Formats: sequence, structure tokens, C-alpha cells
Amino acid sequence: MANVKVAIRVRPLNAREGVDGGRLAVQVEDKLVRIKNTKLDGRQDGHGDSREKVLEFGFDYCYWSVAPEEPHYASQEEVFQDLGVSVLAGASEGYNVCLFAYGQTGTGKTYTMMGTQDSMGLTPRICQGLFRSDTTFPEGQNSSRVEISFLEIYNERVRDLLRGREQKKKASLRVREHPEKGPYVQDLSQHVVSDYKQAVELLEEGIANRITAATHIHDASSRSHAIFTIQYTQAILENNLPSEIVSKIHLVDLAGSERADPHYCRDRLTEGSNINKSLVTLGIVISALAQNSQMSSSCQSINSVASEGDAGSTVGSHTSSLSGGGGGGGGGGGRRHCFIPYRDSVLTWLLKDSLGGNSKTIMIATVSPSCRSYNETLSTLRYAAHAR
Ligand code: ADP
Ligand code: MG
Repeated sequence: MANVKVAIRVRPLNAREGVDGGRLAVQVEDKLVRIKNTKLDGRQDGHGDSREKVLEFGFDYCYWSVAPEEPHYASQEEVFQDLGVSVLAGASEGYNVCLFAYGQTGTGKTYTMMGTQDSMGLTPRICQGLFRSDTTFPEGQNSSRVEISFLEIYNERVRDLLRGREQKKKASLRVREHPEKGPYVQDLSQHVVSDYKQAVELLEEGIANRITAATHIHDASSRSHAIFTIQYTQAILENNLPSEIVSKIHLVDLAGSERADPHYCRDRLTEGSNINKSLVTLGIVISALAQNSQMSSSCQSINSVASEGDAGSTVGSHTSSLSGGGGGGGGGGGRRHCFIPYRDSVLTWLLKDSLGGNSKTIMIATVSPSCRSYNETLSTLRYAAHAR
């Protein structure tokens, strides 16, 4: 598997989008997503320009969930068969793996990562896969260990979602760096689990803790990142000596992507703190990683996108600051590496060991199909396209 894979998932129209005929802005065909500037009344929206504009983006996977009878319709199981199985395969080969859901609030990040009562998402399915005896545990051998932690980053502060009553209400945990193991959260609780049921109990406990907190902070789940981490240790024999392979799987339900878009904040006349620093930095880190992996294309190719001047060009606006900081100017081609600013946010710092380097990263970007979300969807598609 390539080191970075990008998937798009289009959720069904919701009731609000459906009432006015449910005009679609998005279409999926195999691995292509097309987005058209359809207006609510069916005319084109071209900022005073009445021409129809269709943009096309290619991804590793495209999932259409609008109607089960559609040919590209993808269920939770199909998404798992592609992405979840890749995560499990990467971890069993000893890689660190990060799978995160990115997208506007209300487009299906939590549905995809966690799921609902009747429709299990990726995280419980991955836990199930880890304990499927035929794949990971050789009969009668206690050859692997699964440890779980679950945290939330809100306003650059880390909260343990599995500490329950023990943790003082407002206490946030410190992020530190181990000389060999890298960044870690001090005092984060780790829970050894021996079966699927225990793993899912922890997942549910953490989700419940997130919801409890959300009643105090308006809209908290759209502002915070939830990271469910599985440390998977396999006992092996190396030159006849017992040894271990340790892989980390980070499953991340990100804050709503509108929190990374400066235009969002300006439009709503809200204060700057509404921009989510971790999400902005993740955009910079991912585009820098994508650039470094495409050695043939220089930093300039991304800068040219930044000057596109579109309202939704989230990544573009970030990469321009990237070039100012480290990579910038010139062009000239060749093997230049962009600086990766992991340390600039808590999220990227904690995920450092599973973003880039010798790790596997999967991004699933979620969008609404409705023409009402044209700008946000375009912004998400651009962000996702830059990650490849
Ligand atoms: P987010 O976490 O991105 O804010 P949610 O996951 O909460 O969004 O999804 C918003 C609503 O849409 C929820 O009611 C969810 O069940 C529904 N939904 C999202 N994606 C899908 C999908 N692919 N199929 C069916 N329902 C979905
Ligand atoms: Mg959510």
C-alpha cells in the first residue's frame, strides 16, 4: 500500500437539503469526483458569472452513499473492506497507521469513524478485526497484546476520555517527548484489552465522555479532535530470539473543517480563536508530506494552487505560509524537502509517529452532495487532493 491514501465519502442528502428538490453539486464516477456550481434554483453560481463550472478530482477511493440503488453506493462494510482492512494489514506488518476523517461538520466524520447503534463504523470494525482469531492470533498462543487509549484535543488541550471520574474536570494533560519513542501524553490512561467487547466498551465510554463535555461547551464536538489509539504488540522470533513488533493505530475524528478556513470565521464575524490551530497545522503538514513524497514536483506546484484565489482554498492559504516559513521561493526543481512543522500543534505533534516517515496514512474526506454546501465541499476536495 502507498504511504498516503485518500478516500472521499459522500453522505446522503439530509432532510433540510432534501426539501427544495435536493439539488446535487457532487457526482461520483469510479475514482473521480465531479463538483458543479449548481445553485439552489438550478442556475449556475459563478460569482456574477453565469457559466457552468465543473471541476474534477481523482482519489484512491470514492464512496457514494446517496441512495442504495445507485451503482456506487457504499455501505459501512464496504468502507471497512477497503480502509479498515488496510489499517489492519499495515499494523500487522509493523507499521504505524493513522486513519482520519476530515470534513465539514455534519458530513459524516463521526458516522464513518464511530458509526451509529445500527450501523457500526470503522473503529469498532477495526477492533473486531484485531481480535478475529483466524487472522491475528495463532491458535492457543498469546502472541499479541492490544492496549487502548482515547483522548480529545480541544483548544490545544488534551483530555483523557477514559479517566471518568478520576480526572479532575478541568485538568488537561501535558504532551512530552521521549528521546526514543517520541511525543506522548503524560499520565494518559492505557487499557489492556483481551477481546472485542472490552475494546468497544472503552470506545463507548470515551464517546459518552465527549458528549457529556459537549453540553458545557456549545458545539464542542465540531471543535475538538478525538483520537482513539490502539497499541498493537506482536511477539515474534527474530533469529530464534524472542522479540516484539509494536505498531500504533490512530483513529481520528477531526474537528469540523470549517474551523480551519479563515473565510468561515470572517464571514461569521467571529473571533480568530474559532480557527482550529491543530486543523490548520494538519493541512500544512499533510501538504508538505505529499510534496516531499512527490520528489519530482517542486514546492512551486503547490504555491501555484495557493494563488488560485478561491474562497474555499483552505490548503492553498496554508501552504503559502509554509513557503514563507521554510520551503519557499525559487523552484528550480530537484530534491528539496519541505520542512514539516509537526510541533506547531498538539494534533500533529501527537500523530508525528504515524504521519509520514515509515508509516501509513489514510484520510477519508466526508462531504455533503447538496449544492447548498458547494463552497465547503470544494474546499474539502481541494484539501484532500493536496494530500496525495
Ligand atoms: P460529522 O461528525 O461530520 O459532524 P455526523 O457523522 O454526525 O457528521 O453525520 C451527520 C448526520 O448524517 C448523522 O445523523 C449521520 O448519521 C448522518 N450520516 C452521515 N454520513 C452518513 C452516511 N454515509 N450514510 C447515512 N447517514 C449518514
Ligand atoms: Mg462528529
